[in-house]
Amino acid sequence: MDITIVGAGPGGLAAAVAAHRSGHTVTVLERAPELRETGAGIGLMPNAVLALDRLGLGAAVRAQATPPHADSGAGIRDRWGRALLATDQTRVVVRTGAPYAVVPRTWLHRLLQSALPAGVIRTGIPVEDATRLDADVVIAADGARSATRSRLFPDHPGLVGSGELAARAIAPYVPADALFGEFLDHRTGERTGALEMADGRVYWYATWREPIVGPAPTEPGERLSWLAERRADWHPALVEMIKATPADGVHITETAQLATPLPAFHKGRIALLGDAAHAMTPDLGQGGCQAFEDAAILQSVLADATAATAEAALARYSRLRVPRVTEILGAARSAHRVLGLRGVRGRVRDMLLRAVPRSAATRTLARQLRFDPV
Ligand SMILES: Cc1cc2nc3c(=O)[nH]c(=O)nc-3n(C[C@H](O)[C@H](O)[C@H](O)COP(=O)(O)OP(=O)(O)OC[C@H]3O[C@@H](n4cnc5c(N)ncnc54)[C@H](O)[C@@H]3O)c2cc1C
Repeated sequence: MDITIVGAGPGGLAAAVAAHRSGHTVTVLERAPELRETGAGIGLMPNAVLALDRLGLGAAVRAQATPPHADSGAGIRDRWGRALLATDQTRVVVRTGAPYAVVPRTWLHRLLQSALPAGVIRTGIPVEDATRLDADVVIAADGARSATRSRLFPDHPGLVGSGELAARAIAPYVPADALFGEFLDHRTGERTGALEMADGRVYWYATWREPIVGPAPTEPGERLSWLAERRADWHPALVEMIKATPADGVHITETAQLATPLPAFHKGRIALLGDAAHAMTPDLGQGGCQAFEDAAILQSVLADATAATAEAALARYSRLRVPRVTEILGAARSAHRVLGLRGVRGRVRDMLLRAVPRSAATRTLARQLRFDPV
């Protein structure tokens, strides 16, 4: 079959690898004039690594697995670094059969491109209407503001901003006494995440809500100092990490999610994949991971599909993906609400999180991160 993919983000490239590995002829149309992935790093949870195994890229990603760390037990911490919700990541790795990996986005983008034949990706081509493309199957991976989603599901309410801004960057080294995980400030609802990378750097993110804390400076250097100052009484390694980061390497986004889950991920011979199908706030770190799950399942359903059976194959993709993704969207929405609580409600949240036994938190996480691509 001829399969056209709209969008060359991580989701679109993974879909292209899946379609290519299923033996189809693939074209990727990207509106940007050149291929470029920004946004610093990305955390690949075990489910994403299992999906990338299926796409034939698992070995390269496993080589970037996060080094085992003496203090890997605390997933969520207060702002000083004390554990609030601890999970045993070693057990999660054993139960899921895959490690965690935190990698630069540019590295992941290049890895996905390397699995495609030359000439497949065509840049500088904005697709106005994916329903008019001349192909047996169209996979729209055109991101959170997907125009294809609006065409296929015109009554769907679409994307809603979370009101929260997030800065993302890579610090050039691991500060002494660094702790990893997500740090919460119950006073303001601000959060900072620090994820160790295999190459000795740290992928970090920091959130804030301007109606609560006031507007951040717009000049990059001033904004970075502002972020560090706001965290002056947090764990000192976080402040050091932020201050050590080059200001021009910090990316800012307003996070957003779909107002409601989609009822299906396809219509006829057109399927949605990645953020186009299930944009979510990054509170579980699952947006990209779910795109890779989409692609792994797509590879299975396309394996012996022909133009005559393509619609049935995409219906199967929808059936397999919608329940799983709807559950993850719900979990991301709850996590966003709970992790951003502040004041008395933030303090109560901290108390309740501390009361969750590590074994129960580990079991729940391992269940969420299991993935069987077949
Ligand atoms: C702060 C933050 C932190 C995150 N952290 C993580 C994390 O740790 N782990 C994780 O798994 N996920 C994370 N995510 C989510 C992850 O970044 C996204 O889920 C992922 O980038 C989605 O990939 P995509 O290819 O579906 O969409 P995109 O990356 O948005 O790519 C869409 C592509 O389509 C192109 N396009 C759009 N419209 C058209 C058109 N009309 N014609 C042609 N091309 C078009 C765009 O130019 C773009 O290249 C995070 C997100 C944020 C905001």
